[in-house]
Amino acid sequence: MLRTTIAGSLPKPEWLAEPNKLWAPWKGTGETLAAAKRDATLLWLKRQEDAGIDIVTDGEQSRQHFVHGFLERVEGIDFDNKVEMGIRNDRYKAMVPTVTGALRLSGRVHETEARLARAHTGNKLKFTLPGPMTLVDTIADQYYGDKVALAMAFADLLNQEARALEADGVDTIQFDEPAFNVYMNEVATWGIQALERAAAGLQCTTAVHICYGYGIQANIDWKNSLGTEWSQYEQTFPVLAASSINQVSLECRNARVPLRLLKLLEGKDVLVGVIDVATEVVETPEQVAAVIEAALAYVPADRLFPCTNCGLAPMPVDVAAAKLVALGQGAELARKRLGA
Ligand code: ZN
Repeated sequence: MLRTTIAGSLPKPEWLAEPNKLWAPWKGTGETLAAAKRDATLLWLKRQEDAGIDIVTDGEQSRQHFVHGFLERVEGIDFDNKVEMGIRNDRYKAMVPTVTGALRLSGRVHETEARLARAHTGNKLKFTLPGPMTLVDTIADQYYGDKVALAMAFADLLNQEARALEADGVDTIQFDEPAFNVYMNEVATWGIQALERAAAGLQCTTAVHICYGYGIQANIDWKNSLGTEWSQYEQTFPVLAASSINQVSLECRNARVPLRLLKLLEGKDVLVGVIDVATEVVETPEQVAAVIEAALAYVPADRLFPCTNCGLAPMPVDVAAAKLVALGQGAELARKRLGA
């Protein structure tokens, strides 16, 4: 019980990409870059295992960004035709590519890193993909003319890659849907339907990650505007609880999420964020155990998976590594106290 995992991403070593940045430019090209990505993937698998992380990921070392790593393999998108768009309900502006034709995958997206990771760890392996609603919220559209139609088109492509990842030996496929915390009404009307379509037919464990984002300033300002109790989850959890998705990953450490809301996820595995990604201060095992123990009032131990609040990608490598260790040690401490 209390098996540990992470939201997904980890920082890239400085020989792979510029450190401490989202969208960090790659160092190297061609086969040199491909080899560096493989080495970084293996390095983080080892560090996760050594830290006592039970369900590991590739650390997203082969993609520059969690959304655009997927979009790069999608045909029907004009990447030269970038337009400025307010995303996550205008929380920040980004230059985004434009959908100009019918969407289809040009080939496999994550085969290399999934197979590499599978070959080099005996732990359970999780793989992350962006969710359809978040994809729709991160791209301009001149072709489908309808958000729902575009989301369903993306869901079909995600499903194609997810089934292939399952065949590669991946144990858990997680869809990242930060947009679920922004467009709460649309989650119920079509977001969840698109998500289930992306996960259709999968036999492996399925998960959705929702959060309040990386520790960038726009997100910190947004969180500060949300008041003393963050109740966004109150609307989305009942919809997720009624869905076919197995696991829900969310932010709890240093968050103003009332933990009683976790009760709304009854019947689901809950990936409880016990590591803050918005500060470089490394949690103590005691602090990690305290969040786990608080969540245990609402989630049974066999359904509670201690996790990070979100991806660790923008952090310094050493800080992220220390946070992994804190996560492993904190979960171990909580297990001991439970007598497990
Ligand atoms: Zn997140």
